[in-house]
Amino acid sequence: MIEKVLIANRGEIALRILRACKELGIRTVAVHSSVDRDLMHVRLADESVCIGPNSATDSYLNIPAIISAAEVTDSVAIHPGYGFLAENADFAEQVEKSGFRFIGPPAQVIRLMGNKVSAIKAMARSGVPTVPGSDGPVGSDAERTLAVAQEIGYPIIIKAAAGGGGRGMQVVHSEAALLNSVYITQSEARNAFGDDTVYLEKFLDTPRHVEVQVLADTHGNVIHLGDRDCSMQRRHQKVLEEAPAPNIDPDARAQVLDACVRACREIGYVGAGTFEFLYQDGQFFFIEMNTRVQVEHPVTEMVTGVDIVKEQLRIASGLPLSVSQDDIVIRGHAIECRINAEDPETFRPSPGRINHFHAPGGNGVRVDSHLYSGYTVPPYYDSLVCKLITFGDDRDIALNRMRIALDELVVDGIKTNTPLHRRLVRDSAFRHVDFTIHYLEKLIRD
Ligand code: ADP
Repeated sequence: MIEKVLIANRGEIALRILRACKELGIRTVAVHSSVDRDLMHVRLADESVCIGPNSATDSYLNIPAIISAAEVTDSVAIHPGYGFLAENADFAEQVEKSGFRFIGPPAQVIRLMGNKVSAIKAMARSGVPTVPGSDGPVGSDAERTLAVAQEIGYPIIIKAAAGGGGRGMQVVHSEAALLNSVYITQSEARNAFGDDTVYLEKFLDTPRHVEVQVLADTHGNVIHLGDRDCSMQRRHQKVLEEAPAPNIDPDARAQVLDACVRACREIGYVGAGTFEFLYQDGQFFFIEMNTRVQVEHPVTEMVTGVDIVKEQLRIASGLPLSVSQDDIVIRGHAIECRINAEDPETFRPSPGRINHFHAPGGNGVRVDSHLYSGYTVPPYYDSLVCKLITFGDDRDIALNRMRIALDELVVDGIKTNTPLHRRLVRDSAFRHVDFTIHYLEKLIRD
């Protein structure tokens, strides 16, 4: 097992990684910005290094500062968590070139999957079903763009190949708006991602978001850990997730799980990863792959009993996975609510001091949070402050436990989206799995 890991992240995921390291007897190095010196995991780590001022660009995205911190602390590996540099192939490459292990797939695999156009091509080659679309970039030739769009049929979604985090997408309902929208998406993509490649996909009107978790080691073992439903989204950002995805056609599921494992082998995947799909009319359509641990990984951990972060650390140590596909049995149901520091009405960030934090507990309740009474949520980073996860023998039990847990949760001092979650878990359509990715926004509007 690797001896020392530098955690290149903050908040709940940094604490999650630290706990997994401690379980495995791995020493930990926390790196943090000036304002983050009071983070829970910084206090609990064996060592800590301040890597820069508050702005993420100068700290958590500052590659030379992170690598220097690894050097001065004699770290062996770097865990990027999610967000920040987790899917930055240049970072992975520089970490490896500097003599450290990057906890994630090889840089060339991150690069292949980081470009949605090349990712979709690779998936199609492995037999993973993709959304009908342009099969490559559009935009350089107006005639051709119009012809391709007509063939796909409206509505169409224009997507940036380098897009992520729900940005760089635009829906077009008619031919009249197409070329102008392509132009706008291109310039947005150029500004946001430094790459103006865009492509077209059929805009599916009633899909759910269903994704598949995989693990692959360096010995050629590849397994899947089943699926999750993440349809509850606002502005393409997930708000609530669950595992397994309810009411999925068993044959379609078996086929897609197999295809994901096959695709991992073909692209030389290593580490934890997620294949994201839209699921409509009993069919799966690949949209993108995330080459890192995801926010919603705990729901899969609850129903499989596999500790995904510990597996990541084993894989990075060159050890084989601790489980085989035959060991994986999906048992029960798990739900996760993302508690964000934001106004539940306007969704504006609500940073500030937490006067009092009380975490719910009891049978089947898990809380992944870096909050404590007296902690101040800084205004500079993502607003996720707590993940509330409940588990039960079936979906109704998990859902009922979530209602109780949400009522017990106290985050006093700042505003959070807890009222929205309390409403959602009592919603009849949600309870009856009568929803699509558009449902939550409609619920908020009504
Ligand atoms: P990002 O990389 O920004 O997360 P994705 O490609 O994963 O972008 O898409 C994010 C979300 O946008 C999806 O979960 C879904 O809600 C919506 N979306 C993406 N592609 C389509 C599509 N072809 N039809 C309908 N909705 C889509």
